[in-house]
Amino acid sequence: MVRETGYYDLLGVSPKASADEIKKAYRKLALKYHPDKNPNEGDKFKLISQAYEVLSDPKRRDLYDQGGEQAIKEGGTGGGSSPMDIFNMFFGGGGRMQRERRGKNVVHQLEVTLEEIYNGSTRKLGLQKNVICEKCDGYGGKKGTLDKCSTCKGRGVQIKVQQIGPGMIQQIQSMCSDCQGQGERFNSKDRCKNCNGHKVERKRKILEVHIDKGMRDGQKITFSGEGDQEPGLEPGDVVIVLDQKEHAVFQRQGDNLVMKMDIKLVEALCGFKKTIQTLDNRTLVISSLPGEVIKHNDVRCVQNEGMPIYKDPYEKGQLIIQFQVEFPEKDWLPEHLMYQLERLLPPREDVMLTDEMEEVDLVEVDERSQQKKYGEVYDEDEDSPSGGVQCQTQ
Ligand SMILES: [Zn+2]
Ligand SMILES: [Zn+2]
Repeated sequence: MVRETGYYDLLGVSPKASADEIKKAYRKLALKYHPDKNPNEGDKFKLISQAYEVLSDPKRRDLYDQGGEQAIKEGGTGGGSSPMDIFNMFFGGGGRMQRERRGKNVVHQLEVTLEEIYNGSTRKLGLQKNVICEKCDGYGGKKGTLDKCSTCKGRGVQIKVQQIGPGMIQQIQSMCSDCQGQGERFNSKDRCKNCNGHKVERKRKILEVHIDKGMRDGQKITFSGEGDQEPGLEPGDVVIVLDQKEHAVFQRQGDNLVMKMDIKLVEALCGFKKTIQTLDNRTLVISSLPGEVIKHNDVRCVQNEGMPIYKDPYEKGQLIIQFQVEFPEKDWLPEHLMYQLERLLPPREDVMLTDEMEEVDLVEVDERSQQKKYGEVYDEDEDSPSGGVQCQTQ
């Protein structure tokens, strides 16, 4: 039983969420609240990271479900990583270790449609980044004119002495604002006019993101060394994380596509031909032969019409169709025709009434009173697709 749901609430998932759902929720929120993008939401970023750190570890999630935050604190098993570590571990592009003399990675989320992932596509992404100033080659000014900063005498720091009480003084050390802690600076006449001595300039860069057929939601595309440039530092990567939008018709399950299809009772019993618009705009025709009965919630599949397999796009998964049978409305058939219909349908079993039996009324369910009595037990959504629907391979 789950006693506390605070961590789940932070990530916006239910306590029953799967590991994948938790990952996806963290991915979205971490990118949204990352201090680079949302400097005022540092606390939120920290809380999300904490929640994810616990919930992503099955053992610690169990502990939390049983004893809440208290149990996690007392348990003291692992954890305690900084929000940035968690973020970098999650998104760390390209699998390269972060070396010391290397700029940080920049992570962006890119919303893509299921059509784009199905067909493959190229998206252009405009980014602002720091590049080494071309005019001064990242030197900041005229070569050989770098002088010791007169404000801090080359130390890079300023020390202020403050009297805080009788006979007590305090030294406050702060970064020299005139040389940004460098200890050296250019005279205004020697300073590079292009970058104003900052050595880098802000430039717009267009990245072409190739979305290959069959890529997955959450998949990372890494642009090595496309992060911010800084003199003396190897630039970090730009990491693009795909975020697949929900599709109106198809749901993706691994390499398969799943869709619901409404059919009428007559179609369920007497066969049908129906069309399906594929993600690359072909029209498929599926048919059910007369006499082949399709029941409500029955599942059928079409081979090789699912998602293209990543890196092997001529192969595709399955298209899985879940049929929903629409029954006719009340009084659709005049009463005098009812017996004709009955003659055609499989016979029913009649009950022999005896004196011991009690005949009672069957009435419509009053939903409000029903909910009070049975609470969650009464669940209308019984036909929701259960997890991974499987379909036999012929
Ligand atoms: Zn200085
Ligand atoms: Zn410059």
